[in-house]
Amino acid sequence: MKKIAILGSTGSIGTQTLDVISQHPQDLSVAALAAGSNIVLLEQQIRQYHPLIAAVWDAKKAAELKIAVSDLDVKIVSGMEGMIEAVTLPEADIVVTAVVGMIGIRPTMEAIKAGKDIALANKETLVTAGHLIMQMAKDYHVQILPVDSEHSAIFQSLKGEHASGIRRILLTASGGPFRGKTLDELADVQVEDALKHPNWSMGRKITIDSATLVNKGLEMMEARWLFGVEPKDIQIVVQPKSIIHSMVEFVDGAVIAQLGTPDMKLPIQYALYYPDRKYLPGDRLDFWSLNQITFEKPDMENFPGLKLAFDAAAAGGSMPTVYNAANERAVAKFLDRKIGFLDIPEIISECMAAHKVVEAPTVEQILQTEAATYDMIESRW
Ligand code: NDP
Ligand code: MG
Repeated sequence: MKKIAILGSTGSIGTQTLDVISQHPQDLSVAALAAGSNIVLLEQQIRQYHPLIAAVWDAKKAAELKIAVSDLDVKIVSGMEGMIEAVTLPEADIVVTAVVGMIGIRPTMEAIKAGKDIALANKETLVTAGHLIMQMAKDYHVQILPVDSEHSAIFQSLKGEHASGIRRILLTASGGPFRGKTLDELADVQVEDALKHPNWSMGRKITIDSATLVNKGLEMMEARWLFGVEPKDIQIVVQPKSIIHSMVEFVDGAVIAQLGTPDMKLPIQYALYYPDRKYLPGDRLDFWSLNQITFEKPDMENFPGLKLAFDAAAAGGSMPTVYNAANERAVAKFLDRKIGFLDIPEIISECMAAHKVVEAPTVEQILQTEAATYDMIESRW
C-alpha cells in the first residue's frame, strides 16, 4: 500500500489525485491532506479518505475544522508549520505537491529531507528553487516525478534512454484561448475570456498563465531543472489540440512523443505508480475523428510573457524568481480586475528590468527577492 500526502488537496490537481486514489483502493491510500482555506471540501475529504493529519493554512479555519471533525481520529494543524508536519509525516511514502505558487518551496524541501518521493505539480517551486531542489533530491535519494502533463510526457519519452542521447526537448503548447490574437485585440480581453481554456480545466491561476503563455515559460524552466537541459535546447511547439503532450529529439534524429486525450489523471497516476502502468478509465484517442494534428511557431511578439521567460532563464540566478513572483502578483491583480491583461507581461518586464541578479540564491535570498518584487508591485500598480 502506497501512502500519499497531498499538498493542495482541494484544488484541481488535488481533487483529481483523490479521484485516482479512489480508483485503486487496494494499492493507494491517503496519509495527509493540506489546503489553504476551503474547509468545507477538506472536511468531506477527511471523512472519505481518513488521513492521519490535515493541515489548513488559515489558522482560524483550522480551528473551525477541528471542531467539525472532533468525532474523528485526525490531527488538525495550521500555517507553514502545519503544512510541513503534514508532508513529513513518517507514514507517508510520496507527497503530491499540488499547491499553487512559490509557497510550495519550504514544504517541498522539508518533504525531500524527510525522504519522501515528490510527485511534482507545483512548477513555481522548481522555477524559483530548481537548483536547490534537484540537488537535495540527489542528496536524499528521493525521486522527483513530474505531474505536469508536458513533463510527464517527456519523462515517459525518456524511459530507458540516457540523458547524453538528448538533442533537445520539444515542449508542446496549446497556444491558449487567445492564440492568433494581436496586441490590440488582447488589450481589451476580460477575466471571463481568459478563464476559458480550449482543452484543459484547471485552477484559476494556471488558466490565466496559459492565456498569457507565461505557463509555457514556467514549464520551459521546469523542464530545464527536471531534465538537465539548457533553455536554448528547449523548443516550444504550438499544437492546438493538446494531443501530443511533448516530445524528445535524440542525437540520432529520432523523436519520441507521448500522446493521449487531455486528462491530468494520466500523468498523476503515472507519477503515483511509476515505473508501472495501471488501467485508467477514460476516453481514448480516436485517430479517425482526430483526422489531423497541426503545428505552429509560438507567437512571442503578441505574447511577450513567453519571451520574458527565456530572458529570465538566460539571466539565471534570482531572475526566474522575479519573473515568477511578478507574475503571481500580477495574475492576482488581473483576477481582481485591478489591471488589464497586457499589464501582466508589462509588470513582469518592469520588475525584471529593476532587478540585480543574485547568483545561485539560497532559500532566504529567493524569499527576499519575492518580497522585494511584491513591494515594487504594491508601490507602483
Ligand atoms: P488550484 O488553484 O485549483 O488549487 C490550489 C490548491 O492549493 C488548493 O487546494 C488550495 O487550497 C491550495 N492552497 C493555496 N494556497 C495555499 C496555502 N497557503 N497553503 C496550503 N494550501 C494552499 O490550482 P491547480 O490545482 O490548478 O494547480 C496546482 C499546481 O499545479 C500549480 O502550480 C499549477 O501550475 C500546477 N499544475 C496544474 C495543472 C492543472 O491541470 N490544474 C496542470 C499542470 C500543473 P484552497 O482550495 O483551500 O484555497
Ligand atoms: Mg502543463
